[in-house]
Amino acid sequence: MLTYPLTGSIESQFSILTPSPLQRVEAEWTAFSTSQEGSKKPATSHQVQVWCKRDDLLHPLISGNKWRKLVKPLHDFTQAPPSHVLSFGGPYSNHLHALAYCCKQLNIKFTAIIRGAYLKEQDLNQTLKDLEQWNAHLVFVDKQTYQQRTDRHYLSKLREEHNADIIIPEGGSQPDALFGMQAMVEEINAASSNQSFDAILIPVGSGASMAGVVKSCHAETASQIIGIGVLKGEGYLEDLVKQFLNNSNISNCSKSANKDTPYLPWHINHNFHFGGYAKSSAELDAFCKDFNQQQVNLANSKSRQRVSQQRVSQQEESKQDTPICIEPVYSGKCFFALKTLIQQAYFPPNSKILLIHTGGLQGARQQVHTG
Ligand SMILES: *Cc1c(COP(=O)(O)O)cnc(C)c1O
Repeated sequence: MLTYPLTGSIESQFSILTPSPLQRVEAEWTAFSTSQEGSKKPATSHQVQVWCKRDDLLHPLISGNKWRKLVKPLHDFTQAPPSHVLSFGGPYSNHLHALAYCCKQLNIKFTAIIRGAYLKEQDLNQTLKDLEQWNAHLVFVDKQTYQQRTDRHYLSKLREEHNADIIIPEGGSQPDALFGMQAMVEEINAASSNQSFDAILIPVGSGASMAGVVKSCHAETASQIIGIGVLKGEGYLEDLVKQFLNNSNISNCSKSANKDTPYLPWHINHNFHFGGYAKSSAELDAFCKDFNQQQVNLANSKSRQRVSQQRVSQQEESKQDTPICIEPVYSGKCFFALKTLIQQAYFPPNSKILLIHTGGLQGARQQVHTG
C-alpha cells in the first residue's frame, strides 16, 4: 500500500502553497438563535465555530482540489514522463485548466476533449484561451460523443488518433485522485493538533474528493463528513463516492471499530444544487457577492489595525489577510448550505465546523446560469 508523501518535491516544483492555511471564518451567520415554542422567554443566541481549509490558495492557476487529485499522476509523470496526455472537460473546466498548465510546465503534450461542438464557431472563453496559450490541443465534440468519455472503444480510438499515452478521466477523478486528498487531511490533522471537528463540509461533483476525505479522516479529525451536492444527483452521487472508496488503494485511516461501516459517518445533502450543475439563483448570487465583499472589508480593517500597531511586516500581513472568495458553482453552494444549516440549528451550539474550500475561482471569471 502506498502512502503519502511520495516525495514532497512535486509541490515545490510547482510552487504549491503547502500546507494550505486553515483559517477561522468570520461571518454574521455563524450565530443563530433558538427559542422554545410557546415560551415567553427571549430567544437564546448561540455561536458555531466555522473554519476553512484554504485549498483555494494552493496555486494561482492550478485550482484547489484539482491539484490534490492530480498530484499522484503528476508525481508519476516526473518519474516516467509520458509524451502526450489527454483528458476531458466542459468549456470552463477547472480540471482541464489545471492539467493543461501542469503539462506545459512538464513539457508534455496535452489534448483536451471539450464538451460542446458549437464552441468551435465562437470566440474562446478565458479558460480556453489559457489552454491555448499553454499549447493545449483543443478538440470540441458534441454531447453524444462526449458521453462516450468512459467507453473503452472510444478511449482506444482517441489514444490512437492523438497518439496519447495517458488518458485522465474528467475532473481528474480516478482512484489515484484520493492520494492528494489524503495529504490534505494530514495537513488538517497537523494544523488542528487532532482537535476533532464536529463536521467537515465539502462540495461534491464527481465524488472523488469527498471519497478521499471520507477514507482519510479518522475519529480525531472529525465526527462526520457532509457532502454538498452541486448537481442533481441523489443516489447517483452516493454511488460514485462508494465506488471511489472501494477502488482506491490509499490506506483506510477511518479505522472504525465496526466492520460493517468502515468509515466515519458520511452523507450527501441534496438541497443546495440550485437546479443543477453551474445553475444559480438571484439569492445565491447575492449571497456570494455579499460574502465576498464582507470578507474583503474584514481583511482590510484587520490589516489596518495590524499595520497601525506595527505588529507584522507588510509581507506577513498579506498572507494572513487573503480574503475568502467564493463563486456560485462549488464553494458558494457549500457556504450557502452551511449558513442555512446553522440557521436551522442543525449543529449544536459551539460546534466546530470545517469547510473545505476546493478552489474553482478561475471558472468564476465567467458567467454561470441564473434561473
Ligand atoms: C471539480 C471541483 C469540485 C468537485 O470535486 P469532485 O472531486 O469532482 O467531487 C469541487 N470544487 C471545485 C472548485 C472543483 O473545481
